[in-house]
Amino acid sequence: MHPALVRHIVLPLVLRRTWPPLRRRWRELERSQWLSPEEVEAARLAQLRHLVALAREKSPFHRERLRHVDPASLRGREDLARLPVLEKRDVQEHSERILLEDEDRSRLTRSATGGTTGEPTRYYWDDRYWIRSSAASFRAAKMAGFQPGDRHVMIWGTAFGEDEKSRRRQIRQEARQNKLTVPGFELGPDSLPGWMERAAAWQPRLVEGYTSLLVLAAQWILDHGFEGLRPRSVISSAEKLHDHQRRLIEAAFRAPVFDRYGSREVGCIASECDHHRGLHISAEHVIVETLRGEEATAPGESGDVVVTCLSNEVFPFLRYRIGDVATLAEEPCPCGRGLPLMHMSQGRTHDLLTTGRGTYLPGEFFPHLFKDHEGVQAFQVHQHQDRDVTIRIIRTPAWAPEQEAIYKREVHEALGEGIAVRYEYVEEIPRTKAGKLRFTISEVPVDLARHEIEPLAPGGGEDSDE
Ligand SMILES: [Zn+2]
Repeated sequence: MHPALVRHIVLPLVLRRTWPPLRRRWRELERSQWLSPEEVEAARLAQLRHLVALAREKSPFHRERLRHVDPASLRGREDLARLPVLEKRDVQEHSERILLEDEDRSRLTRSATGGTTGEPTRYYWDDRYWIRSSAASFRAAKMAGFQPGDRHVMIWGTAFGEDEKSRRRQIRQEARQNKLTVPGFELGPDSLPGWMERAAAWQPRLVEGYTSLLVLAAQWILDHGFEGLRPRSVISSAEKLHDHQRRLIEAAFRAPVFDRYGSREVGCIASECDHHRGLHISAEHVIVETLRGEEATAPGESGDVVVTCLSNEVFPFLRYRIGDVATLAEEPCPCGRGLPLMHMSQGRTHDLLTTGRGTYLPGEFFPHLFKDHEGVQAFQVHQHQDRDVTIRIIRTPAWAPEQEAIYKREVHEALGEGIAVRYEYVEEIPRTKAGKLRFTISEVPVDLARHEIEPLAPGGGEDSDE
């Protein structure tokens, strides 16, 4: 279907209620990105005060913590330091008390995430959040030369428990929006050629995917001299993009790669423009700080990413330590946007696991799985050289023995016959030498062309370019 037809007819029909405010917000963001940093700052300070006032008045959890903070006294980003940091553990333990108390739950969506460290986190959002967050994503995609309605291939993790019928329905729905999802959890040497042909036939303007899956596809394309897939741009997300991965993906797709950083909890945090000088923070949507402990790090110095989401007014994420490490840049981008730049230093690194069927299973499979199990506080999946797997789990008091059988079955189905899985219930998850908590580690090299190639990520070791 013609992109403009999708954009102006199909999307407004599919989204009905939310499309008009979404389009309005998107247009606002297209304008506000060109404001000066000072103007962007002033607008979001007003929203921050509003959010803090709401949290203080209506969130039982925040009320106690913010009782000494007068919202009107917040005059700059440095004043944020007077607010306590919200840790993942706080959200895990107090999500029902963080939620504003008079919210009608029937109009909210409850979500969960496995997050960087594999600890499931539960939270809520409403339509207004969805609209603002989607508008931020639309703008980020537009920086990469893509608009809703353009032909689009996503190499992504598919949802669980989907039967053939609902999957076919999804494919039909997506096709009406000019979108094709390649099920990343099923890619392997046998299925890659078929999916790459299909993606090529789709003639996408954009290919978007988890970094590790784009690398997998890129490696296959280069190994086979495949010429068919020629998007205008590639968006890499969900995982840290290393320089050697960017080079590999750009060589295979012959298109520029745009890195994007976001999270399930707060949506699009930052994205690259065509100058590739760093990631522009979605400043109207989130405030990003970098901290070491409680102290702010200087520009250019790496620290824990702490995010305040200005768009979620029902579940205030105020100074939320999200589990990634980055640096904030001081210098502006030559593109002229007033949105500040950041650089990712470490991030989520997932390994691909090898299944008994000879396909690859992205590490992202596991946070999706465990987020549905309240009894799991953290986990680590480790595939050894002989392909057997050890899964270490830290349990919470909500642990129920019957859930064990459910996830054991799902893990067995995902990994297939011939892979022995050992479960260890532990008090602590071992970290890498660099102190990183990695929740999937594989020591099995990914071998696409059935000859020796480099593993996608060093198994259990450090990343070379950090
Ligand atoms: Zn720029």
